[in-house]
Amino acid sequence: MTRASRTLMSTTAMAALAASTLAASTLGACSPTTPTYRGEPVSVVDMHLHTGTWDDIPPPMQAFLAERFPFPVNLAPEGVVNDVLSAQGIIDQLDDAGIEKGILFAVYAPQTVGLTTNEFVAARVDEGGGRLLGFGSLPLEGLATSQHLRIDELRAAIESYDLRGIKLAHPHAQAALDEPAQDAIYALAGEKGVPVYLHTGNTPAVGARIEETSTNPRFLQRVIEQFPETTFILGHVGYDFIDHDVGDLDVALDLAATHDNVFLEASALGSAGSDPEGTNYGQILSAIRERGLASRLVYGSDGPQRPGFVKDYLQRTLAALDAADYELDEVRGVMKENLAGITSLD
Ligand SMILES: [Zn+2]
Repeated sequence: MTRASRTLMSTTAMAALAASTLAASTLGACSPTTPTYRGEPVSVVDMHLHTGTWDDIPPPMQAFLAERFPFPVNLAPEGVVNDVLSAQGIIDQLDDAGIEKGILFAVYAPQTVGLTTNEFVAARVDEGGGRLLGFGSLPLEGLATSQHLRIDELRAAIESYDLRGIKLAHPHAQAALDEPAQDAIYALAGEKGVPVYLHTGNTPAVGARIEETSTNPRFLQRVIEQFPETTFILGHVGYDFIDHDVGDLDVALDLAATHDNVFLEASALGSAGSDPEGTNYGQILSAIRERGLASRLVYGSDGPQRPGFVKDYLQRTLAALDAADYELDEVRGVMKENLAGITSLD
């Protein structure tokens, strides 16, 4: 697991990873089964996945994880973790869930959740045989003083690695959402025709900035209006991951309702660990539909986290969409077509 993939992971979730890894590692390859909604097949793309290696994890966290793996995996956890986050490990998770493709995120947040470079993501995408796509990123801290260099690097990465979007996580990168130095990122995204995914809402990650200026999507209003050609995906719809509350959901929905270039994503917040009864997830999905924004919602899980998570999150989501009374066409949009409208999935 990368530091990035631990972003939203609680201690409990890590213990669950440890407990489930041994069992899951003994399972064979599963044949893909297309998911269904009200009896009809639905194509799914998971637009929010992480990759990495054991070596990406700082030593204190390696020790923390190793203690929690069951015997005998605790003696050599490196191999198991590397398997889960490898290209094949992620594809096995997609197959298990019946998911067509997954998007891997680059992450530049060395102070908090770590580093998954554009180059690393590109290598995993290459290994994925068409099943994996990538979103690039760049370091935000100190951007004002090295803007041209970093933007040029990101541009080169998007072009040479055929990246399909840009991922930013301001709280983890210890940056504010409204720093003018970041305008060049949004201009680049508009020019290249790729969406920008932004973590919105807070995070329990140690060292992350939880001030409103880093978490509340209202601080994106200026750039959303200044860059109408750029698509903004408000990740986690402003969720409060510390108090497990809908947080700034209304702000995210207001922005989407008033700006055609705003999309919504609701990964991680509806997991069994975060929202056991699905109450918050159901409320959020209902609110999106009631506001007439089902066509702006794109599906992501924030996996793989642990073996089985990718499938579990999809099944929980399909059940929650059903409970919120989404129609089949709306679900097909959420699961793939809405995303296909804002970036190439080929
Ligand atoms: Zn994530």
